[in-house]
Amino acid sequence: MNNKIKVKCPKCKKTFNYFDSESRPFCSEKCRLVDLGKWLNEEFAIKESFLCESIDAEKETMTE
Ligand SMILES: [Zn+2]
Repeated sequence: MNNKIKVKCPKCKKTFNYFDSESRPFCSEKCRLVDLGKWLNEEFAIKESFLCESIDAEKETMTE
């Protein structure tokens, strides 16, 4: 079985062996977390602007 697959990290564009990384498809945990953080921040930003528009409706959900 050939376990040597070279892939490019979507985050830092570094080429690495797919099966060497615990954080695939990223080359390292760091890249994975950075990318994850990016998405979480975007989601948070969307939620925050949504909150401002419907603050009363959101309040009821949050006191549960
Ligand atoms: Zn990387």
